[in-house]
Amino acid sequence: MMALIQELKEKVLSGGEISSGEALCLAVTEEPEIVDALLEAAHEITLHFCSQKPDLCSLINAKSYLCAEDCGFCSQSSHYQTGAARYPLMEPEEIVRVAKQCEKKGVQSFCIVTSGETLNAREFEQVLETFHRLNAETGLNLDGSLGNLTAGQICKLKEAGMRRFNHNLQCSRDFYPKIVSTHTYDKRMETLKFLEENKVEICSGGILGMGESREDRIKLAFELKAYDLHCLPINILNPRPGTPLCNQLPINPLEIIKTIAIYRFIHPKANIKLAGGRELNLGVYFQEKALRGGANGLVVGGYLTTAGNPLQEDINMLRRTGFLVGANQEQPCCKGSQTSVTSC
Ligand code: SF4
Repeated sequence: MMALIQELKEKVLSGGEISSGEALCLAVTEEPEIVDALLEAAHEITLHFCSQKPDLCSLINAKSYLCAEDCGFCSQSSHYQTGAARYPLMEPEEIVRVAKQCEKKGVQSFCIVTSGETLNAREFEQVLETFHRLNAETGLNLDGSLGNLTAGQICKLKEAGMRRFNHNLQCSRDFYPKIVSTHTYDKRMETLKFLEENKVEICSGGILGMGESREDRIKLAFELKAYDLHCLPINILNPRPGTPLCNQLPINPLEIIKTIAIYRFIHPKANIKLAGGRELNLGVYFQEKALRGGANGLVVGGYLTTAGNPLQEDINMLRRTGFLVGANQEQPCCKGSQTSVTSC
């Protein structure tokens, strides 16, 4: 196995790609010393292809709950009684006010997230106005996570200043029907295609620990290879009371960090970010191992319906693991209302 890890690492470093069969061979590894070698190799790939400056993002949950979809991991689905905060789309004024506060505190990237699979026409116009105002009144990198969009809507948002769009595939195509019944995998892929056609930076990943198999995790990574990913956020299920996955048993942390390392082999150039559920499922010890084993970024400042670490703790962790974090990123980060994941 050690020889295979070295061979595949050299292949990736020289611009080659690993196959799903090779990824699956890596995934069966369970001996700690071999997992460590896999992590080391993944880190070498990260250092070769990615910046040592982590790309930190913060988000605002601009519309919470009230969602007609039935994603089994999500406390914002109106199919479930979860107690999540519920409010309609925030007014532009309020979002701009929060964004300016964030900017003052050193935040560089600001993502507007809304619950629901799509925005209605009125909501879309309101979000568009918000992006125009943020573009005119702040120097922030502006990102969105607004569900499925048409090509025309993506074009308008780009013109209004949106740089990057988050749209997670969540899991493998095979596993998806076990988690969601109200919309299709193909619909989500269509939005990713529109993003690519309009040259909007793509942020897309998934959630580990929903009961999927190792094969499903590898299949998700290969589904994502269809796109030129800028970011690949990895959420780990934080079971929310009231959702169908509320009693899901946690996934072994070693399995998580191994998966992240293999994702680095499959996506050598993407920013692989630890996102929602990282604190609960990995603690500091395994987050640090992940940051030395293929991951190179964090979603900071809390998620949609759960709180995160204080930013300073995350900054310290990034520095301990060798990442370069600017002095202007040491201030506390903004937080919208707080799903355990980072997007729809
Ligand atoms: S993930 Fe998004 S689309 Fe799915 S239930 Fe939650 S808010 Fe709705």
